[in-house]
Amino acid sequence: MKQFDFDVIVIGGGHAGSEAALAAARVGARTALITHRRDRIGEMSCNPAIGGLGKGHLVREIDALDGAMARVADAAGIQFRLLNRSKGPAVRGPRAQADRAVYRMAMQREFASSAVTVIEAEVSDLIVDAGQVEGVVTPLGEYRAAATVLTTGTFLNGVMHIGDKQVAGGRVGDKPATALAARLYDMALPMGRLKTGTPARLDGRTIEYSGLERQPGDVDPMPFSFLTETLPSPQLDCHITRTTPQTHAIIEQNLERSALYGGRIDGIGPRYCPSIEDKIVRFAEKDNHQIFLEPEGRNDPTVYPNGISTSLPVDVQQAFIATIPGLEAATILQPGYAIEYDYVDPTSLDPTLALGKVTGLYLAGQINGTTGYEEAAAQGLMAGLNAAARASGAQACIIDRSEGYIGVMIDDLVTQGVTEPYRMFTSRAEYRLSLRADNADQRLTPKGEAFGCVGAERARLFHVKQRALEDARDCLQNLSISPKEAAARGLPVNQDGRRRTAFEFLGYTKIDSETYLAAFPEVAGIPDTIRAQMGIEALYSGYLDRQTADIEAFRRDEGLHLPPDLDYAAIGGLTGEIVEKLTSVRPITLGQASRIPGMTPAALTALLAHVRRISARAAAG
Ligand code: FAD
Repeated sequence: MKQFDFDVIVIGGGHAGSEAALAAARVGARTALITHRRDRIGEMSCNPAIGGLGKGHLVREIDALDGAMARVADAAGIQFRLLNRSKGPAVRGPRAQADRAVYRMAMQREFASSAVTVIEAEVSDLIVDAGQVEGVVTPLGEYRAAATVLTTGTFLNGVMHIGDKQVAGGRVGDKPATALAARLYDMALPMGRLKTGTPARLDGRTIEYSGLERQPGDVDPMPFSFLTETLPSPQLDCHITRTTPQTHAIIEQNLERSALYGGRIDGIGPRYCPSIEDKIVRFAEKDNHQIFLEPEGRNDPTVYPNGISTSLPVDVQQAFIATIPGLEAATILQPGYAIEYDYVDPTSLDPTLALGKVTGLYLAGQINGTTGYEEAAAQGLMAGLNAAARASGAQACIIDRSEGYIGVMIDDLVTQGVTEPYRMFTSRAEYRLSLRADNADQRLTPKGEAFGCVGAERARLFHVKQRALEDARDCLQNLSISPKEAAARGLPVNQDGRRRTAFEFLGYTKIDSETYLAAFPEVAGIPDTIRAQMGIEALYSGYLDRQTADIEAFRRDEGLHLPPDLDYAAIGGLTGEIVEKLTSVRPITLGQASRIPGMTPAALTALLAHVRRISARAAAG
């Protein structure tokens, strides 16, 4: 048996690396986090906000698995809002504006109370022996581990652009990772280049808020974590302003000076988070774009103007910002910039986020072509668990598409790859009525217990809640009334003679809480939060039954495992292109194979027939 310094080494202390290291340590792996700077752990490179549509679901799922992001965001929150409140509960997204410094400190506290060894150093090389990654090289020496998780974010060959100025760096104030990038190219990994951008930071003391629309937080702020009981208060306001025709004219006149439009950036950027230059070119018919002025902290005057990320030169940034109402005299504290960086094609990973080409190496976060803290953290958590499982010989930890947004994201990445920075949306999940932010704990905490990553206190509280939900379900389903009784109690219902349960009435959105409780006084003993959860179940119950049938069909295909060493070229009837795609993705199930872009029903039938022939031959000896 080889002796290792650690079970798991995580490279990078960003959002992916932090969750990876904390998760690995939670399941008992001897874990080291090696990162450029200890004081940058928990740094938010871009906007100081966590969650949002789709992303909020990921944060709740991270919490359900006892990850840190939700707790940390709750501790650092300065404004909490539930987005899409007017829409169905399935697509509502919790979001919090965070105090940047408090977020960083709260994440660093998570490390202080963990068993992770934090090492401040740059990793310049990987130690590879017989196709297995066995550790890393740093200026402090070599460190060896049974499994390594790589989470280098925007740092691999990072180049920042402000107009025609280019500076090598992983983000403002940090150097890039060039030696490690060279090593990955040497390993002939499929790599590409992506870009993202950030707006200028403004001095809030120089903003004139009086004429701007105020955007307060929710009056009943909701935490991310299922364990958080109280949130910091008071909440701070954000404000809304807009670009003007003059803003657009200045940007149009200077497009050639933008790194993006001057042809100095090759990487592909996030379509859903475009720069202001992009918005003005792509939506030329619009004469204004909304900007959210978001405070970066309680004791920090910095304001993040969400909506005007740019790679224009500083003088142009200054000129166009001065044409925006409220920002006429705003001082720029840090100019906006774009950053280009290398990523690894995620189809080279398996669903545990392990690289196929060498063993013992897991990749998570922006290096896999995603964008966003939440996407990074969710991958980090899963990569950390899987790296620890490899080290201990435990079973791999996989969440599938029917169980969580985490599963949807990882399956999308490893099966379809990316053509632009990938971010989460609720529309990516086919089973979104079941995969709600409100029930993330019920979906995933039991899995987390099976993975071994859920702490005792969370497990205890979860089981108490589960019992309360079951009791409430029984109580609500055992109470039933006729339409006549319902009418007498003020509940509007068709007089069709059908008895209905208190559970069914709970799903009728037109009945207010007071009328409902007056009609069913027996329900008054059910806590509000449990009744609210039951209300969502009741609202969707008809659809959920249908979705359960779809999920069962999905699981049947996911249950058909494909041999990892399958020779796709030997399968008759497959086109060269499909053989190439199957060989590159190496799907682990027939279901995953069916989701590879370009896959045809005929190819799937040929694949299934081939696998059945092999198993029949093996069974016959
Ligand atoms: P990072 O947070 O980038 O962390 C990487 C970590 O790895 C760092 O701690 C670094 O020090 C460490 N590291 C790298 N190489 C080495 C090495 N060789 N040795 C040791 N340590 C190493 N997201 C959005 O959702 N929307 C946006 O609009 C957006 N804009 C952005 C704009 C900019 C300019 C930047 C920089 C990022 C932006 N992001 C945006 C992305 C967001 O910051 C990332 O998605 C998220 O931080 C990725 O997390 P990560 O853990 O993968 O990497």
